[in-house]
Amino acid sequence: MFNLKSFEVWFVTGSQHLYGEETLRQVDEHSQIIADALNNSSAIPVKIVFKPVVKTPDEIWSVCKAANNTPNCVGVITWMHTFSPAKMWIRGLNALQLPILHLHTQFNRNIPFDTIDMDFMNLNQSAHGDREFGHIMTKMRLNRKVVVGHWQDTEVHDKINAWARVAVGRYQMQHLKVVRFGDNMRQVAVTDGDKVSAEMKFGFSVNTHAVGDLVQVINQITDAEIERLIQEYEDTYALMPSLLKNGERRSSLVEAARIEAGLKAFLTDGGYGAYTNTFEDLHGMRQLPGIGSQRMMAAGYGYGGEGDWKTSAMVHVMKLMASGMKGGNTFMEDYTYHFDPENAMVLGSHMLEICPSIATGTVNCEVHPLGIGGKEDPVRLVFNAASGPALNVSLVDLGNRFRLIVNEVEAVEVTESFPKLPTARALWKPQPDMKVGLEAWILAGGAHHTVYSQNLTVEYLENLAEMLDIELVVIDKATTIRGLKNELKINEVFYK
Ligand code: MN
Repeated sequence: MFNLKSFEVWFVTGSQHLYGEETLRQVDEHSQIIADALNNSSAIPVKIVFKPVVKTPDEIWSVCKAANNTPNCVGVITWMHTFSPAKMWIRGLNALQLPILHLHTQFNRNIPFDTIDMDFMNLNQSAHGDREFGHIMTKMRLNRKVVVGHWQDTEVHDKINAWARVAVGRYQMQHLKVVRFGDNMRQVAVTDGDKVSAEMKFGFSVNTHAVGDLVQVINQITDAEIERLIQEYEDTYALMPSLLKNGERRSSLVEAARIEAGLKAFLTDGGYGAYTNTFEDLHGMRQLPGIGSQRMMAAGYGYGGEGDWKTSAMVHVMKLMASGMKGGNTFMEDYTYHFDPENAMVLGSHMLEICPSIATGTVNCEVHPLGIGGKEDPVRLVFNAASGPALNVSLVDLGNRFRLIVNEVEAVEVTESFPKLPTARALWKPQPDMKVGLEAWILAGGAHHTVYSQNLTVEYLENLAEMLDIELVVIDKATTIRGLKNELKINEVFYK
């Protein structure tokens, strides 16, 4: 679904006319070398595009406007090889509508002690040129990412990678269409929120369709399409005997495939990247989509249950940001606790819709009754989530602002067999420990629904919060309840 190389980040170097033609020629040459190295780095998935060195307020303004107007440009990397008096940048920075990464590097790694002279000093001034640029951005109260280090360091490439992927995510948010089948689950608070404010802040739109509009598409799916999908199920998953050809529940699988194909067609035709539905509004559908929603997520679509459009949008965006990385991202729900003091942990699951991108081992395809919704038994994928570090991410609407809450967790290997649990499952230990992690989450107002990520780190979410200029609350090894309470109080003042 995603091709990160189709997105551009512009590499813009600032200078001035003071130094003469020869120095400016070298600035240009060095900038090109750095931009090419970043573009060719296997650690950086987007295209890095070199732009000729800017030396005047008009050139700066022009490159900022051009970046805004370039359809696939998601952000700008700036670097001051020499000194670029920063008042020249004010008009351009005011016009720029894209995230900035300020790369605080210099062309040479080491000081050439034996040969250094004033010509060298004249050319290699980023140690003070970048400070002048940093000052104006601070004075203008502009959020940006500052990355420090030599441009050949892998650590620098990793940080540019984490920023660029998020810049793509932010860009996608501006274009994302989320479709909401039916409304919010009755009486539920956290899944709801202000869709208009969300569009103003994030750019994505959330619009409704009657579930009947979807049913109409589902009912037009041909037998041939259903056959093709079932073949894919058989090739990919371990089907329970009753779902096999001539099995007594085969018709459930046929219906599930029809629903999946209908969902896919509806989302494709409408240009939607994410959707949400609710088991309270399934008029005309014979099953609540289980395997269909699971496989749509695996294909990159966002999903949130019970009308949860915020989590749905975040699932899509985080999948895009993590595109090509090992591990998965899924819609998740904190379901049940294991309060054993020796081995406290959370069982994460949902009644159906967990993305198999987080699975380890066999993915089983099964059909079981569902206690709610009053529909036929839905087909679903059942599996264990892989162990390792992971994150839970929740975006909530606090009325006057949105808050992004991130909890680092450690997923443990699922060794229990859960013989009677007909859902996908994950087991994790919240940081800093079970009790503090849960207390902090509840105090921060985090939802029961999250995006569960095996491959994105806090750095990605921090970059995202800064690009979107929203509140971020991180619950990690360093969290204390007293500190968190203070942070929440201070944030109330900051965001008033
Ligand atoms: Mn739920």
